[in-house]
Amino acid sequence: TLGADWALDWMERARAVVSANRIELIELDRAIGDGDHGENMDRGFTAVAAKLAGVTPSAPGEVLKTVATTLMSTVGGAAGPLYGTAFLRGSKAADGALDAGGVAAVLEAALEGIQARGKAEAGEKTMVDAWLPAAQAARSAAEEGSGPVEALRAAADAAAAGAEATEPMVARKGRASYLGDRSAGHRDPGAQSSALLLAAAAEAAE
Ligand code: ADP
Ligand code: MG
Ligand code: MG
Repeated sequence: TLGADWALDWMERARAVVSANRIELIELDRAIGDGDHGENMDRGFTAVAAKLAGVTPSAPGEVLKTVATTLMSTVGGAAGPLYGTAFLRGSKAADGALDAGGVAAVLEAALEGIQARGKAEAGEKTMVDAWLPAAQAARSAAEEGSGPVEALRAAADAAAAGAEATEPMVARKGRASYLGDRSAGHRDPGAQSSALLLAAAAEAAE
C-alpha cells in the first residue's frame, strides 16, 4: 500500500516537474489563455514543498489536505480553486494507506471536486479531460486485481493520453472558451499540468 512517504515523494516530484515544465505551461496558456498557468503552478507547488518540509504526516490524506489548503491560497486563477478542491476531496477519500481501490477512490473524489467546482464535462477542453480517464483507468485496474502502483501507472498513462486528446477540442469552459473555434489546435494547459502531476504520482510509487 501507499503511505504518507509516497504522498510526500509525490509532492516533491510534482514540485520538480512543474518547475521543469514552467515555460511549456506558460506557452500553452499563452496560446489559448492569459499565459500565467506555469507561473501559477510553480508558485503553488513551491509553496507546497515548503509547507511539507516541516511535517511528519502519518497518512496520505494528511499530506493531501495540506496540499489542498496551500494550493487554494497560492495558485490563484481558475486552477487554484479547482486543484484545491481536487486535493481536498482526495484527502477526504483517502482512508489510511492506499491500495488500488484507495487510489481509484482518491482520483474519483478529485474528479468530482473539479466537476463540482468548475461544472465542466468531458470534451470541453479542461483538466477534466485528464482526470476523468485517469480515474476510470485506476478503477478498472483495481477491479482487475492490480495493485496500487499499477493503478497509478494506468491513471498516469490515461491522463497523458487525455491531455493530448484536448488538442483538437474547442474549449467550452474557462478563459480558452472566449476564443471559440480558435481554441482548437492547442493542448489545454490545465490538462497538461494534470498529466504531469499524475505522472509524478506514479513515479513516486514505482
Ligand atoms: P486562469 O485561466 O484563471 O488564468 P490558469 O491559467 O491557472 O487560470 O488555469 C487554466 C486552466 O484551468 C485551463 O487550462 C483548464 O484546464 C482549467 N479550467 C478553467 N476553467 C475550468 C473549468 N470550469 N473546469 C475545469 N477546468 C477548468
Ligand atoms: Mg491562465
Ligand atoms: Mg490567469
